[in-house]
Amino acid sequence: MQIDYIKVPERVRGFEKQIIELRRDFHMHPELANDEVRTSRVVGEVLEGLGLKVTRGIAETGVVAVLEGRGGGKTVALRADMDALPIQDQKEVTYSSRVEGKMHACGHDAHTAMLLGAAMVLTEIKDNLNGRVKFIFQPAEETIGGAARMIEAGVMEDPDVDAVFGLHVSPELETGTVGIRYGIANACSDDVFIEVLGRSAHGAQPNEGVDAIVIAAQVLSALQHIISRGIDPLESATLTIGTIKGGRQANIIADRVAMNGTIRTLDSAVRDKIQSSIEEIAVNICRSMGGQCRVAFRPGYPMLINDNAMTDLVRNAAGRIVGNSVMEIQKPRLGVEDFAFYLQRAPGAFWRLGTGNKEKGIDCITHSPNFDIDEDALSIGTAVHAQTVLEYLQ
Ligand SMILES: [Zn+2]
Ligand SMILES: [Zn+2]
Repeated sequence: MQIDYIKVPERVRGFEKQIIELRRDFHMHPELANDEVRTSRVVGEVLEGLGLKVTRGIAETGVVAVLEGRGGGKTVALRADMDALPIQDQKEVTYSSRVEGKMHACGHDAHTAMLLGAAMVLTEIKDNLNGRVKFIFQPAEETIGGAARMIEAGVMEDPDVDAVFGLHVSPELETGTVGIRYGIANACSDDVFIEVLGRSAHGAQPNEGVDAIVIAAQVLSALQHIISRGIDPLESATLTIGTIKGGRQANIIADRVAMNGTIRTLDSAVRDKIQSSIEEIAVNICRSMGGQCRVAFRPGYPMLINDNAMTDLVRNAAGRIVGNSVMEIQKPRLGVEDFAFYLQRAPGAFWRLGTGNKEKGIDCITHSPNFDIDEDALSIGTAVHAQTVLEYLQ
């Protein structure tokens, strides 16, 4: 009853112009992971302007603000990421990137603007909030997992976060729709490092050396068998070797090749199997060809697992904003998202905001040089953020 009385979309409308302006400002001034200095300054100023309790400089460029409601009650956190990508913006719009070689090609500018919009709306209705809201603006989603650093710095404590929500723009969904997913939504990632060691010799006398390049070629092609022949076809996984570096000159047998890759899985048994297979294949091929091998793994982001009750809550909240245009996403993604770290600390849900618009020609996927969003989606995302808080704190 109380929630309907508040009429979130109408209140958001009052801030829409400001939210679009903020998004364009961030879009014109993209900053790479861990370098979000200007962005975090703007974020801090807007939040302080609202009279919130703001802490800057968390994990270097992170910002957190707390909005107190009526007192007592629970604490709900909303999160945005602020980093851009090393991509040259190729769009011809008035707000395209002003910075050579950097671009908001993943929509984190929109995430930041919408979360600021949610802070504006929720501040206006704070006397209706039976609890408090923590707004988390984090660095470095795209690289080293800014979320983990924010958590290390204590953002999930004092006050302790009872539930956490976040969103990602989705060009695959049309503006006006919201995508939710129960359970596993994103894969976990691991980096793999393979070093093939041979012995240098004259290029015309290969028999005197051990050619690390030829061995690496064998290893690379054998690794392709792991997913295609070693993993249950009904499981999902990828193994991509993204870089391969070795050799010094055309007439020298290479003594070292380094390969780096990423593994994406949705199941821990599959993850273990892939890692042990990589090690076994690489080590044995190298040994059989007279070389040596070193294999190492580094865990990346964990699996993103949405809580069922919290996903229901987002479904209801989004339903109040977009009616029956809330879609259940059928398949998890093998892409990763560091929001997963927050979900290891508190129940919550990560959902997708439709920002595509085929009629307007806005349909480029994220991380592409022509990526853009339909700005009509900004007020929808802001409203769903605010409505989720209202539903949770009721
Ligand atoms: Zn991205
Ligand atoms: Zn992203």
